[in-house]
Amino acid sequence: MGDDMRCETSEELKAFVMEAKQYTKNGKVADYIPALGKENPDDLSIAVHYPDGSCVSAGEIDKKFTLQSISKVISLALVLMDRGSEYVFQRVGMEPTGDPFNSIAKLETMAPAKPLNPMINAGALVVTSMIKGKSVEERFQRLLTFIQELAGDETVQYCEEVARSEFETAHLNRALCYFLKQHRIIEGDVEELLDLYTKQCSIEMNCLDLAKIGLVFAMDGVDPLNARQIMPKDIARICKTFMVTCGMYNASGEFAIKVGIPAKSGVSGGIMGAVPGTVGIGIFGPALDEKGNSIAGIKLLELLSQKYGLSMF
Ligand code: GLU
Repeated sequence: MGDDMRCETSEELKAFVMEAKQYTKNGKVADYIPALGKENPDDLSIAVHYPDGSCVSAGEIDKKFTLQSISKVISLALVLMDRGSEYVFQRVGMEPTGDPFNSIAKLETMAPAKPLNPMINAGALVVTSMIKGKSVEERFQRLLTFIQELAGDETVQYCEEVARSEFETAHLNRALCYFLKQHRIIEGDVEELLDLYTKQCSIEMNCLDLAKIGLVFAMDGVDPLNARQIMPKDIARICKTFMVTCGMYNASGEFAIKVGIPAKSGVSGGIMGAVPGTVGIGIFGPALDEKGNSIAGIKLLELLSQKYGLSMF
């Protein structure tokens, strides 16, 4: 969403943000990627995007943050369009895990070693390895252009500092890649894949843009602002289903009970919500709980879900 379209500040949302903000002190900013450690743990902002193009918000909504794991939903949509679901799901599974997002444990105990789902790091690395293109640059550019289309914002770029910081410290993701390569789940050069993956995770935007992307998923792949089908309905459906079953890491079950909307979080503190047929939601609150989800962001979604009856269940 460009600067020409602004969100209206909502007094009601502001009150919810104030209430949820109290929880930020119980959380911690992620610092295993050193560049993320600089965020202010007190921040909390939200934008809600409606299909008629209107938008309401609260908090510092101009603040940019990197997508991190939220990008996994979008790379999955692109790869499903690139390769078709049969090819993709031969290489990555459809089942939730009860393990942390970066766990290697299940890979060794499952046969074949294919990752359980595309939302854990192992599965997301496999997905990113399937993005079509002749070079890392071309593949990254295709993903970035897709994200710009979904957000309706051509200015969306990636943060070089975060990408470099993650690339230099991605020891666990490197280990996952080499394991997957040994078992022939991925092909090609591991360093190139990590370069692409860390750039993907470092794509940055504000919560208005994120709410707009959530809206496209909510509206079955159609951008309601220009009536364009950006991705097939069936692919939007698959992505939303993964958001429900595995979108909030190993807290997805509790989140489904307490909030009940398709959502995807990232360790930057972002959460993208897609309420089917209704609204897209973008949240930024970098203080995380022990599972890696925005602690105040989840609280905020709980309050909204209760107040407006947003749960799908
Ligand atoms: N870039 C992060 C990683 O791979 C993404 C993790 C996340 O947001 O959960 O460690």
